Amino acid sequence: MVGQRVRTRFAPSPTGYLHVGGLRTALYNYLFAKKMNGDFIIRIEDTDQSRKVEGAQQNLIKTLEWAGIIADESPLHGGNYGPYIQSERLGIYAGYCQQLLEDRHAYYCFASPEELEENRQLQIKQGFQPKYNRKWLPEEMGGSMPSSEIRKKMEAGAPYVIRMKVPDYVSVWFEDIIRGPVEFDSATIDDQILMKSDGFPTYHFASVIDDHLMEFTHIIRGEEWLSSMPKHLLLYEFFGWEAPKVAHLPLLLNPDRSKLSKRQGDVAVEDYIRKGYSSDAIVNFVAMLGWNEGEGSEQEVYSMQQLIDKFSLERVGKAGAVFNVDKLNWLEKQYIKNRPTDKIIEVIKPILHGELAEKESLMPREVITSDAYLEKVIELMRERVGFEHEFITFSSYFFFEPQSYDEEAVKKRWVADTNDLLREFTVILESLQEFTAENIEANLKEFVTPKGLKAAVLIHPLRILSSGVSFGPSLYHMLEVLGKETVLRRILKGIEKVSFSL
Ligand code: GLU
Repeated sequence: MVGQRVRTRFAPSPTGYLHVGGLRTALYNYLFAKKMNGDFIIRIEDTDQSRKVEGAQQNLIKTLEWAGIIADESPLHGGNYGPYIQSERLGIYAGYCQQLLEDRHAYYCFASPEELEENRQLQIKQGFQPKYNRKWLPEEMGGSMPSSEIRKKMEAGAPYVIRMKVPDYVSVWFEDIIRGPVEFDSATIDDQILMKSDGFPTYHFASVIDDHLMEFTHIIRGEEWLSSMPKHLLLYEFFGWEAPKVAHLPLLLNPDRSKLSKRQGDVAVEDYIRKGYSSDAIVNFVAMLGWNEGEGSEQEVYSMQQLIDKFSLERVGKAGAVFNVDKLNWLEKQYIKNRPTDKIIEVIKPILHGELAEKESLMPREVITSDAYLEKVIELMRERVGFEHEFITFSSYFFFEPQSYDEEAVKKRWVADTNDLLREFTVILESLQEFTAENIEANLKEFVTPKGLKAAVLIHPLRILSSGVSFGPSLYHMLEVLGKETVLRRILKGIEKVSFSL
C-alpha cells in the first residue's frame, strides 16, 4: 500500500434522504481524499431491493453536489462517468461467492425464516447471544449435514442463502485510525449471510468485494459499522487480499446526549436546505462534528479549501459529537456577514422574482429588482438576517407595502397629535431635494426641537408606517432606501389605517 494513490468512497444505500450523519461521512471521505491528492468515489449500495426508494440515488448525489462534494470519475480504468451501482454488478459477487464455496469458506443454508426465528428465541431464552446454529454446515466442513441432504434440497429447487463459515477459535484484531486497536473473539461472530435467496449479495459481502476491486485505501464510515469489521476482515483473509485502513467516526448526538434522532429536530440535509441554510455553513458545521484543528486554534469558520488543507483523521475524536443547531445558526450569520454582495444578489433575486409573481408591489419593479437597490437593502440588513432568503422575506417592506401595523407598537407610540405631526412633517419630506438619511434626520430634528419635542415622537411612528414593524435598521437610512415617493405614500395611507384602528 506504500505509495499507493489514496482512494476513499461514500457508499450510501438509496433508501431516502441524505442524513446529516451521511453528509459528514461523505465530507470526511472527500476532505481526506482531496488533502491526499487522491480520489473520492460514490458507490450506490442498492442490494437490499426492498428498501430501495425511487429517486433517492439522484437526490443523494444532488445534495452532495449542493454541498460541494463532487465525486471523481468512478470507474477505475476508464469507463463512464457516474457512481458505481451495486445492482449492476451482481455477476461479480456471484463469481466471488462461488470461489468461497469451492474453498469451503462458504456453504448453502436452507433454513426457513420461521426456523431461524425459533432458534433465535430459544437461544435468547437460554441466555446466549443469538447466532445461526449451523444446522446446514456440511459434514466435510466440520458440520453435521450430509452432502446428500444438501443435494436433495438443491434438486428440489428449495430456496437457500449462502453463509460464510467463521473459523472457530480465532480472534480478529485490527487498528482503527480513530479508535486504536480493536479486538473481537470469533465465538461472537455469526456465520454471516453472503448471498440472499433473491440472488443479491448482502451489504457485507458486496462492500468487501467492491472495496477491494475499487482499490480503496481508506474506509471512513460511521461507528455503527465497527462491529461488522470482523466479518469483513475474515472475508479479506479468505480471498488473500490486503484490507484497507479503517476509521470509524463518532456518533452524532442530540444536545441531551441521546443518539441524534428525528424526534429532536431535522436530520435530513434537505430539511436544512429548505430552511435556507447555505452550503458553506452546513459544510463548516458538519466538518466540526467530531473534528477539530487542535489546541491553539480559535478558528471556527472554515472554507472547503481550508478544511481540505487542515483535515486529518488523527484529529477526529472518539467521543460522540453533539449536534447543536445554535452553532449552525451562528455560523450561517458569520457567512452572511462576510459573503460578497453579488453572491447574495445571485441567491435572492430569483426569490424576489418569485414573490413578485405572486404579490403586487406598488414600487417600480425595475428599481426594486436592480442590483443597485438590492445592494442597499443588503447593506442595511446584513447584520440582521439569519438566512439569505430573509433579505426578501424578513424585511419584505423593502419591496411590498406593509399589510398591517404592529398593534402593540401603535398603541404605545401614538398620542393625540401624532397624526397631525406626521402630516405636517410629510410636507417637509416632500419638499426635500435630496432624500438622503442625513437630510431627513436634520429636517426631523429641526421640526421637533422648536416644538419642545423629542425626535422619538416621530421616529417610531415613521418606522411603523413605512415598514409595518417596530424594529429594523437605522430609520433614516431605511427611508432613504425606500425613496421619497414610497415613504410619503405609506405615511399618508398608514395614518388613515392607524387612525381607524386607534
Ligand atoms: N451502505 C452502507 C450505509 O448505508 C455503507 C457502510 C459503509 O460505508 O461500509 O451506510
